Amino acid sequence: MDFKAIQLLILDVDGVLTDGRIVTTVDGESEKVFYVQDGLAIKRWQAAGRAVALLTGRNSTAVAYRAAELGIDHVRQGVKDKIGVYQNWLSELGVSDKQVAYMGDDWPDLEVMQQVGLPIAVANAVPAVKRAAEYITRRQGGSGAVAETIEVLLQKQTQ
Ligand SMILES: [Mg+2]
Repeated sequence: MDFKAIQLLILDVDGVLTDGRIVTTVDGESEKVFYVQDGLAIKRWQAAGRAVALLTGRNSTAVAYRAAELGIDHVRQGVKDKIGVYQNWLSELGVSDKQVAYMGDDWPDLEVMQQVGLPIAVANAVPAVKRAAEYITRRQGGSGAVAETIEVLLQKQTQ
């Protein structure tokens, strides 16, 4: 596992940037709870010249707001075919599988996790995702798992 090579960190949203609970309002929108340390860590990762992307199967305005707030340019929501979007990003951003880390928690994440250089599972991921991961965070999704990952990546990259 090569932490030093990672240039692009792709994050699933529900269960990774959030605790996976979906609060549905009467107008059909979803409210999400994000963790402040994850946001600050994403800023540090970007300041180090690295890229972040969000790839989620669901659709919500809350995710669009959070992405805008953090200056995340690569955001795809409502994605049924995560591997297809992933492959487009590789060519768009000029990176190879080895340079990508992907964080997931559930079955729809598996296919991309099997292809990236560094597949990462959150502490409370489903067992199949944990088995596919080369790194499992101590923190749970929505409770600083992303911040923990970025901390490890930056530490290894500056060693
Ligand atoms: Mg998820």
